[in-house]
Amino acid sequence: MKIYDITAPIFEGMTVYKNKPEKQPKFSKTTNAHVTESRIELDVHTGTHIDAPLHMINKGKTFETIPLEKLVGTAKVFDLTEIKDGITKADLENLDIQENDFVLFKTQNSFENEFNFEFIFLKEDGANYLAARNIRGIGIDALGVERSQPGHPTHKILFGADIIVIEGLCLKEVSPDSYFMVAAPLKLVGTDASPARVLLLTDI
Ligand SMILES: [Zn+2]
Repeated sequence: MKIYDITAPIFEGMTVYKNKPEKQPKFSKTTNAHVTESRIELDVHTGTHIDAPLHMINKGKTFETIPLEKLVGTAKVFDLTEIKDGITKADLENLDIQENDFVLFKTQNSFENEFNFEFIFLKEDGANYLAARNIRGIGIDALGVERSQPGHPTHKILFGADIIVIEGLCLKEVSPDSYFMVAAPLKLVGTDASPARVLLLTDI
């Protein structure tokens, strides 16, 4: 079995959304005699993470309501590296996207080493298309599934259709194909997101 770890490493100085210093993780380590213990301060949207509806909808569902059944199962990686700016309905119409699919979009974002303010995102009409297809979830290799759309329609459409949103994936090493995905977040209660370890497994 081959394991692709498509999770971003978490460390002080890592890439964070819009390079905001307050979004940097903080690690503090104390050592007493031979005992070392670390404490971390972490935004729940750090690195590879899964959003819950509360993130964009007041009184929306919190993180623990996301069932594991949606996070573990087949996922399809699509190569969208030719796309500039944003992913539209027209970009998706010719792809093999079926009901209950979990789709992972590999874009130019996977090849960036720093935060790019012009990152590739899912446009509103692309989100509407995926909602109409009744997919299970979407994962993208940007720290946000959308940018520069007033009112955050992409997030709202996806959450409104009960679609899971994974952000901050690292898909550089992954070829377009079908994989068995294990997306395992922390078991946080009451939050609007959680960091997750996301793995793609193949038989070969
Ligand atoms: Zn997020």
